[in-house]
Amino acid sequence: MKKIVFLASTVIAFSLTLNAFTLGTLGNFEFKKAHENVYIMHGPEKEPSKENEGFMNNPAIIESKNGLIVIDPGGNYNVGKKILAEIEKVSKKPIIAVFNTHKHGDHWFANKNILEKYPNTPIYALTYMIEQVKDNSAETWYGILDRLTGNLEGTKPFTFPTQGIENKQTVEVDGQTFIMRHFIGGHTDTDILIEHVNSNTLFIGDNLITNRFGAFDESSSILENIKLLEKIMKQEDGFKKYALYVPGHGPSGKDPKKTVEPFLTYLKIVAAGAQKAYKDGVESYEIKPEVHEQLKAYHKWDAYEGQMGKHLMKAYSEIEALDF
Ligand SMILES: [Zn+2]
Repeated sequence: MKKIVFLASTVIAFSLTLNAFTLGTLGNFEFKKAHENVYIMHGPEKEPSKENEGFMNNPAIIESKNGLIVIDPGGNYNVGKKILAEIEKVSKKPIIAVFNTHKHGDHWFANKNILEKYPNTPIYALTYMIEQVKDNSAETWYGILDRLTGNLEGTKPFTFPTQGIENKQTVEVDGQTFIMRHFIGGHTDTDILIEHVNSNTLFIGDNLITNRFGAFDESSSILENIKLLEKIMKQEDGFKKYALYVPGHGPSGKDPKKTVEPFLTYLKIVAAGAQKAYKDGVESYEIKPEVHEQLKAYHKWDAYEGQMGKHLMKAYSEIEALDF
């Protein structure tokens, strides 16, 4: 009898390992309870690559009485299958709503997997985000992720968000309340920050990225991103003290000084360097060594080498544009 129990538990343990969502040397990924009824799977803190298969965002689940609400389900159809399987390990309840924080495909291309299983689930995003992805952003991001990961098969045709939302709108889903906030500038021109009222959690999207760097695209603003994170830190403009702060990439945390401030400080150092270069009438690359020295704490963040100079140049051009 003992033998049979041992064998059975070995088989169960083995099949659990087989079913785990594993990415190369990056390890296993699963949803963990972050706070109350909020579960988060923190993706690899890396740029998209063959190894991470295009998965590097932070999909989240809010469990309600009758279902699950998913924020940013992931970056392509193939990883979407694995993420959906991990969602089902948290609960077999149906997915009854989805939110997409912004237009970048690494956050929403796996909408497709959810609608395939639950065809009538509403997918919420900023109305302007929906226009942008239908216009050309989805294609642009498909190209970027396909080139870097080679893992986009099945992702098309795209599953676009279906429900347009606006700044300050409240969305109620099965007893869970979500407040939307949109700012003109920041990570992109299509971002929503989502406050989950029941658990007092703030989903910041890619306006907060920790332990790795990404590109600031043509619709972004480093200077506005700074203002937005400062509002969160100072609890201004409707923001308050939250129980949990969730970035688009990187670890979530309960203390904004540890979770929000590091990226804000980075952006402020870059912007101050750009400001100094502009004032002194030199190019941004000329001040790069000085700024690099001030950014010692960030040298180990993924993609620092490739991105810092570009961020400096971007901040410089924003400061220059303000002067005209
Ligand atoms: Zn993004």
